[in-house]
Amino acid sequence: MTLTPQHPLLQSLRRFHPQADIDLVCLAYDFAEEAHRGQLRKSGEPYIRHPLAAAEKLAMMGLDEVLVSAALLHDVVEDAGIPLEDLRENFGGEITQLVEGVTKLGKLKYRGVERYMENLRRMFVSMAADVRVVLIKFADRMHNLETLQFLPPQKQHRIALESLEIYAPIANRLGMGELKGQIEDLAFPYVYAEEYRWLAGKIQPQIVERQHYLDGAMAEVRNLLNDNDIPPISIHGRNKHLYSLYKKLLRYNRDFERVHDLVAVRILVPTVRDCYAALGILHSAWKPLKDKIKDYIAQPKPNGYQSLHTTVFCKDGEIVEFQIRTPEMHDNAEFGIAAHWHYDEFGKPKTARTIVPREKLAWLDQLLKIQKEASSEAEALESMKLELFQNRIFVFTPTGDVIDLPEDSTPVDFAYHIHTDLGNRCVAAKINEKMQALHTKLQNGDVVEIIINKSRTRPNSDWLHFVKTTTARKHILDHVRKDRSSFAIPPRSSKELR
Ligand code: MN
Repeated sequence: MTLTPQHPLLQSLRRFHPQADIDLVCLAYDFAEEAHRGQLRKSGEPYIRHPLAAAEKLAMMGLDEVLVSAALLHDVVEDAGIPLEDLRENFGGEITQLVEGVTKLGKLKYRGVERYMENLRRMFVSMAADVRVVLIKFADRMHNLETLQFLPPQKQHRIALESLEIYAPIANRLGMGELKGQIEDLAFPYVYAEEYRWLAGKIQPQIVERQHYLDGAMAEVRNLLNDNDIPPISIHGRNKHLYSLYKKLLRYNRDFERVHDLVAVRILVPTVRDCYAALGILHSAWKPLKDKIKDYIAQPKPNGYQSLHTTVFCKDGEIVEFQIRTPEMHDNAEFGIAAHWHYDEFGKPKTARTIVPREKLAWLDQLLKIQKEASSEAEALESMKLELFQNRIFVFTPTGDVIDLPEDSTPVDFAYHIHTDLGNRCVAAKINEKMQALHTKLQNGDVVEIIINKSRTRPNSDWLHFVKTTTARKHILDHVRKDRSSFAIPPRSSKELR
């Protein structure tokens, strides 16, 4: 029962990779189908449906035949007892290594925090070695979430929670916005069942009503752009993902009135210049809301996201958010790191297999470092979750190097990020060439220069009140502990510390 040429898997694969080696994918399918024959999923379906679903997801994200084949084979070693040697003989080294990588990550069995940390560590290490292994793991997890109803409740909750806490933030860091949204929405009902029911019930009628209004608004936008010689490639509404809406509502005291991007309008135009022109056209037709214009083209988000965002009083005074971008930016926003495997500019598939620039994964090294430096597994887990969850900002050194820090970071965090000595010795900071206090919150795009006193060797414990990064906090605490243990310097009272 091999795949027919019209099978959705092969159709998706050919969309991004017209020259893909279809025979290889069919061979992988046949091999997996035979290996898993007789095995059933908890849902009662033949097992092959699971690796097939995972492979389909990767093909839809635009990944190539090597990844798709490895996804088809991802469980044959662990669940069907096929030796790696057999795989190597049939499929060669590259696919075998990918399957081996996924197998090593293993099935998550929760056995206390230590085992959990070990799993995480393995995930980060293999991601640093070859990020493709984790892409397969994502596809595997997506299908497991889709079929979660067949598992016992306790297991459901654990897998869903882990997806929200670990998988979704990692997908976000890899710039895979669409995948992140899907993972969160699948996990949401299992982790916050009541909140989910409340929100879904409340939101459905609003979205239907909104869609009707937007159809009219979008037609008007299309005419406006055409009249100004910026013919749009596409204009479409996109519903906000439910879980990210939920998180936003929590920030706004559950006030629906303040959420303007329940359904946002996405405009795709051919070039960057067209993006700015389209923004100008919108603003001359409708008044923009103050502070809602975001230029993520000139200043991309740390995960690489680019777009222009604006919120305007649109047709009939209704508030509407617009997102304007080129097709390349759109591709990046949806697929993130996976977009590296799409066509190159000549329309031929990429031949290099590991083509993700190292800087893109610098945050991974940071996570591994935190884990190494933590004094206990529980502390490491907390710090890593914190690092993964925080929103990030980009700031610059005076020589133009980009430093990626958590939101609300200060010059002290910046200094420690660069070097421990720079942190210990800093006395002041220039932000955009102006002297500023060390507790000043840095903004995206700031140029930061640290001023040091060479004779100074220890940090100020007051900095603990405002630092944001784990690294800065740890170095300052090290000194505070040292000071406390020496008699020369009396410990501060708890009142002073506060
Ligand atoms: Mn699997």
